[in-house]
Amino acid sequence: MKKVSNPMERAHAAPRCTATSKRSGLPCKNPAVKGWSVCRMHGARGGHSSGKANPAYKHGMRTRETQQMRKAINEHIRLARALEKLITE
Ligand SMILES: [Zn+2]
Repeated sequence: MKKVSNPMERAHAAPRCTATSKRSGLPCKNPAVKGWSVCRMHGARGGHSSGKANPAYKHGMRTRETQQMRKAINEHIRLARALEKLITE
């Protein structure tokens, strides 16, 4: 037998937007965009692209990767100085 059901049941079962209305304070309840936790009205697919494609990109010294690298280098320097202090004292 063929299963008879309303196709809208699947649409109504879709994950809901997690945003809260700033007017009523209630949850948005709109269906969330696939791969996002919010609906199309609450920022899904919004924002600029990251990296070189971002319009604020200037020289690359403030990207996530270079900042992580700088952090790691500074940690190495800190450890080396601590070790040097232990040796010389
Ligand atoms: Zn929403």
